Amino acid sequence: SQERVEVIVVGAGPAGVAAALTLARAGVEVVVLERGAYPGAKNVMGGILYRQPTEELVPGFWREAPLERAIVEQRYLLLTDEDAIGLSYRTPVFGQPPYNAFSVLRAEWDRWFAQQAEAAGALIATEVTVEDLLWEDGRIVGVRAGEQGDLVADVVVIADGANSLLAQKAGLARDARPEEQALVAKELLRLPAEEIDRRFAVPPGQGVAIEAFGAATGGLLGYGFIYTNRETLSIGTGALLSDLIAYEVNVSDLLERFKQHPAIAPLLEGAELVEYSAHLIPEGGWRALPTLFTDGALVVGDAAGFVNPLSREGSNFAMISGKLAAETILEARQTGDYSALALSRYWEKLEASFILPDLELIRNVTPFFHARPYLLQDVPAALAHAVRHYLTVDSTPKARKYREILRELGRELRPARLLRDGLAALRELA
Ligand code: FAD
Repeated sequence: SQERVEVIVVGAGPAGVAAALTLARAGVEVVVLERGAYPGAKNVMGGILYRQPTEELVPGFWREAPLERAIVEQRYLLLTDEDAIGLSYRTPVFGQPPYNAFSVLRAEWDRWFAQQAEAAGALIATEVTVEDLLWEDGRIVGVRAGEQGDLVADVVVIADGANSLLAQKAGLARDARPEEQALVAKELLRLPAEEIDRRFAVPPGQGVAIEAFGAATGGLLGYGFIYTNRETLSIGTGALLSDLIAYEVNVSDLLERFKQHPAIAPLLEGAELVEYSAHLIPEGGWRALPTLFTDGALVVGDAAGFVNPLSREGSNFAMISGKLAAETILEARQTGDYSALALSRYWEKLEASFILPDLELIRNVTPFFHARPYLLQDVPAALAHAVRHYLTVDSTPKARKYREILRELGRELRPARLLRDGLAALRELA
């Protein structure tokens, strides 16, 4: 069987749904095909959802959407096997309308977001796995969904997430390399809401996001996280797939160790495991950018590798790229021309947004840190050692203590290396 619609979106994650919502509102006949039993069923995210970008899709969503807690505090931890050095920022401003960010459970958030697209007129078909693209005269004209048959459209939005099979089948992306992806294990742990309020010292409805480096990933490039939800905690950790393979580290063992860290374990005590999952995050960024459009198709969200691992942003890249792809389609629709040339306006829109500029800005960050493993291994240990020495009151005259600390830091951190890498950082990252 072969049916026809104006636009097909593959994947009902934040990117695909944002595209569908934008198109449906403009009166376009759009069908979203999702392999999961419902939108969000297969999705894994920490997850922190950002208020401002989300309002670009659904103004005032925070008044009615299923959100967990308003994030009022961000903590960064540098962990050694035993110790923790922290830096945190908290403001009541983030706990008041219009807020800054929320913890969400993807199964609930994705479903709600998809309902907004449906209410605007999009059709969301679940339990449909797209297996291939349909081609005609060298252009993409639809998708093949196994037993469910073929669906033909003017244009296909590829929103199937990390390591996109369809972007590869479209000839737009190559297979992602292990050094371009992080593998993250995540658990959802249940705790009574009042217990979360107490342990994280927050008022009801407000929450904390913690990112932890160093021993949180066994010293590998990546980070561990804890996000407070209403009655659960999201905890996870992960690292580049290439390092997990090279060092033969199992990501669920990494998570077990992170959970047992003396600075983390008391936060989790007595919490009951609700769900375990593991997922890839595309981290190739600017360097692994696929071709973003071709005759009859556009790539959005994780499928395009639109993630900023440095600032833990992915959902916003997904939603805004979905919106910009939809706006490109709306312009193309005026002349009925869905050629690569017409769809190239997508690139211009991405360049004018934060998406391509941010990816370009951080293009050297992962390679820089990856080439200097001591930054996440020796530096936390040396700093923890120095801080412990500084805080230990032991009747040593302070002048002598400071000299000792500086000597130790010099020995462990090698000032010449720090200077060389500091200059390299200015050159490569600035
Ligand atoms: P996805 O959300 O992956 O959606 C793709 C959809 O396509 C899925 O529903 C999938 O089932 C469907 N699909 C795939 N293949 C097919 C097919 N062949 N046919 C039909 N359907 C298909 N981002 C943040 O902003 N904040 C965070 O705190 C955060 N934390 C994260 C923590 C973890 C552990 C991970 C893994 C990611 C995190 N991210 C976070 C990133 C964020 O989850 C992604 O950037 C975002 O989900 C990308 O949205 P998407 O719609 O492009 O892809």
